[in-house]
Amino acid sequence: VLKYASVSVMDFTADEQLEELCPVCGDKVSGYHYGLLTCESCKGFFKRTVQNNKRYTCTQNQDCGIDKTQRKRCPFCRFQKCLSVGMRLEGEPEKGKHFIRYFIIMI
Ligand SMILES: [Zn+2]
Ligand SMILES: [Zn+2]
Repeated sequence: VLKYASVSVMDFTADEQLEELCPVCGDKVSGYHYGLLTCESCKGFFKRTVQNNKRYTCTQNQDCGIDKTQRKRCPFCRFQKCLSVGMRLEGEPEKGKHFIRYFIIMI
């Protein structure tokens, strides 16, 4: 029988040291942005892209590798990757709001 053994709540703020890596470029994450943990750079990139309604084109085959050192090379592929890892415009929490994570351990 599965049982909820314990539920702990953890506050997340951008000031905390997060161990996870940005799913887009592999840089250190700075907090939750647009629905998931990303680095400051990708957050800014995503925001600029959307706010300015930017249109990019890829000079390669739209499959450029995006990592920390190459992320600036191809904004088209970077934005595609942002979307593919799940960054979304909707549902971004207001600034300063605490994020709550539930860890549910089942025995
Ligand atoms: Zn990133
Ligand atoms: Zn590209």
